[in-house]
Amino acid sequence: MKAWQDKIRSVVPYTPGEQPNRQNMIKLNTNENPYPPAPGVRQALDSFDEDRLRLYPDPTAGLLVNTLADYYGVGKDQVFVGVGSDDVLAVAFMTFFNSDKPIFFPDITYSFYPVWADLFRVPYEKKALTEDFAIRPEDYYPANGGVIFPNPNAPTSRYEELSVIEDILEHNQDVIVIVDEAYIDFAGESALKLLERYENLLVVQTFSKSRSMAGMRIGFAIGHPDLIRAMNDVKYSFNSYTMNQTALVLGAEAVKDEVYFKECVNKIINTRERAKAEFSSLGFTYPEPGANFIFVTHPEYPAQELFAALRAQDIYVRYFNQPRIDNYLRVTIGTDEQMTALFNFLREYMR
Ligand code: PMP
Repeated sequence: MKAWQDKIRSVVPYTPGEQPNRQNMIKLNTNENPYPPAPGVRQALDSFDEDRLRLYPDPTAGLLVNTLADYYGVGKDQVFVGVGSDDVLAVAFMTFFNSDKPIFFPDITYSFYPVWADLFRVPYEKKALTEDFAIRPEDYYPANGGVIFPNPNAPTSRYEELSVIEDILEHNQDVIVIVDEAYIDFAGESALKLLERYENLLVVQTFSKSRSMAGMRIGFAIGHPDLIRAMNDVKYSFNSYTMNQTALVLGAEAVKDEVYFKECVNKIINTRERAKAEFSSLGFTYPEPGANFIFVTHPEYPAQELFAALRAQDIYVRYFNQPRIDNYLRVTIGTDEQMTALFNFLREYMR
């Protein structure tokens, strides 16, 4: 071994879902939105003046920050934007999780959390969800270095009522509590409502799911101005120009079209209701889904076998070979046509 080798920061990276690019594939594996972004995004792209690319973008991302602040009815000093919520969450980890005490997150959750914790040398403790994949708030009462969880959770799709989140906040007023709301638009009330009462709460959302813009990479956090200032200090110490010119313009366009946004979200929720019925009729069970995906298991057909059979048909879903969830498939809600193809295949396969 060479002397410099043990100075290398060694990390086990996050494994993103595969991004196959095959004609006629049905891609239900990374929770993307099957519908295009708002029509205004297309127009803004068509009329985008490429001369703007000559110049650095606004480092404050003012256009996007202001649009989001207006939309959510918060101050401009309460919004932080980043390159997807992965970037926002990474900055939040670096900014807020600096204690010797472990941060807490669920044992079954977004698998990037332990990766950032390891990368930034943050100790952590996983808190086991119940058999039904519910968060037990009392697990989060002991002293800790911070708390983070998604709501709805991934990959279970389960949504926790705000009372659960408030219970956790009530018992954690001396640390930062991050609620990762990547999928909130498909579920119930957002924790944004609690911001007035808890200045240690940071709510993180994304344009990748409900706004159909995973490819653009836009995420944001809303919280107390002191938290946002601290995150910006870290960002400016790392990379000032994270948001490119097109992301600023197209992101702002996407937020403006609330009618289209609601229409798309409702279509996905309706298809999800249909998918629930279809999965049930085939004998699958699942936690009540709150996101744009459903986490299914079958008493007779091993998930890994189904995963491979679907893949052979160019139908991609997500399988996690991890304790407690290794007999589940996470299936993104696609268009009605895509779901029909999925169920036609499953019905045939499971006959
Ligand atoms: N949080 C959760 C819970 C997710 O599932 C994802 C999607 N992989 C993200 C955050 C990150 O999404 P993005 O970086 O596209 O905003």
